[in-house]
Amino acid sequence: SARRAGSGSVHRYDDALRTEQDRRSTLRADLDGALERGELRLVFQPVVDAVLHRTVTVEALLRWRHPLLGDISPVEFVPLAEESALITAVGRWVLLDACRTVAALDGGQPGADALNVAVNVSARQVRSGELVPDVLAALADSGLHPSRLLVEITESVLLDDAHVIEDLAALRRLGVRIAVDDFGTGWSSLAYLVGMPVDVLKMDQYFLADVEHDPARRAMCRAVLQLGSSLGLPVIVEGVNTPATLALLRDMGHRYLQGFLLSRPLETAQLADGLELAASALRARGPVVLP
Ligand code: C2E
Ligand code: MG
Ligand code: MG
Ligand code: MG
Repeated sequence: SARRAGSGSVHRYDDALRTEQDRRSTLRADLDGALERGELRLVFQPVVDAVLHRTVTVEALLRWRHPLLGDISPVEFVPLAEESALITAVGRWVLLDACRTVAALDGGQPGADALNVAVNVSARQVRSGELVPDVLAALADSGLHPSRLLVEITESVLLDDAHVIEDLAALRRLGVRIAVDDFGTGWSSLAYLVGMPVDVLKMDQYFLADVEHDPARRAMCRAVLQLGSSLGLPVIVEGVNTPATLALLRDMGHRYLQGFLLSRPLETAQLADGLELAASALRARGPVVLP
């Protein structure tokens, strides 16, 4: 904790953290330079294929270890990075590090067992116009084949201007795939999906909260799966964290699953072993029923 660090600067933190507002400005100031000081790192959460029974993708998730305040959630600090131009530099580093880490496992070329990597990209990063060159640089640097990179955007990005859509389309022409993250919780109508450069839907974990007992959420889970299948888009379900939820999703025919029940996000050093552990966590629970 801040107190245990016991330096003169501690008082600054005790004072500064008295209000939410102050915590925000302290974090905002400290985030500037966090990348250079080596305080940011990526962890990787497996997405398991319930038909092939193996980990097919890992999602790169950003972590910040603050020297005095400890681990700060990306839910708190990513929005702060988005308020400044910092997200552009951080986002560029995330792309580089994620591609390097996954390419280092197997050389980066496509193949039957090749692992894909999903990278979250913020709206501001897409709007900056630097996404396409940043992706190209990360692929060139790592040697990762473009087909193995999945870029995760949120629904609101698809409501943006023509330049943004054109950049996403350019990524797709390179062979990179685009996923809509937190699908189903945006403000938009479904109409925005038509004709969009999108390859994958990631269903928000909201739909899984209490899904075993809530018939309305079960109906939503089925509807999202059906929509994906009608549009020819695979659906990844995130937030699978109880055996009952897993059983339910598999009975519905959901194929791509991500959640704490299968695996927590993994440190890089645990990645190779963790992929297999996630797959065996799923295998232990029997085959999926495809619709
Ligand atoms: P997201 O992209 O929707 O990521 C999924 C979040 O759900 C992750 O939280 C993951 O740890 C969590 N999760 C996965 N399975 C379960 C489960 O079974 N139960 C529960 N309760 N949670 C589960 P995390 O790592 O805290 O990230 C939160 C959000 O921060 C992400 O949501 C994403 O929007 C943002 N984020 C994380 N890394 C990056 C990044 O590199 N760039 C950008 N722009 N945003 C990022
Ligand atoms: Mg995501
Ligand atoms: Mg998500
Ligand atoms: Mg989310």
